[in-house]
Amino acid sequence: MPELDNCPKCGRLYVRNIHGICDVCRKEEDKLFEKVYEFIRKRENRTAGIAQIVEATGVSEDTIMRFVKEGRLRTTQFPNLGYRCERCGRLINKGKLCQDCLENIQSDLKAHTKTEEIRKKREEAEKKAAHTYYSVDTKIKRD
Ligand SMILES: [Zn+2]
Ligand SMILES: [Zn+2]
Repeated sequence: MPELDNCPKCGRLYVRNIHGICDVCRKEEDKLFEKVYEFIRKRENRTAGIAQIVEATGVSEDTIMRFVKEGRLRTTQFPNLGYRCERCGRLINKGKLCQDCLENIQSDLKAHTKTEEIRKKREEAEKKAAHTYYSVDTKIKRD
């Protein structure tokens, strides 16, 4: 049974595929891609930035960035292309986050682990204290 879904671009009902959009939208995307590629593959345009491509082709920034993200446009070939870091919006060309955000997240994670460690140690110390108190208490009672 083919799985039906609404196309996130146009809202039409479509049979789910690996592209995540319907055939009509996909064909349109292909046309846009052709346009962008036609422009940027020219030697003098290889180093064009996204703003230049938007201006020359009329294709939206978002669409161009998606082509880059999907690997249809390669930054090894076109060094000034990129897409936005999911955290701060800076232009990047690999992964989901820029180097800064990656480092920030890593140090956040470290800080988190540290507070966890401190919390655990305190809990253990509290447990020990409670235990000591309890045994002293029973001892007193026994006496
Ligand atoms: Zn669609
Ligand atoms: Zn970032």
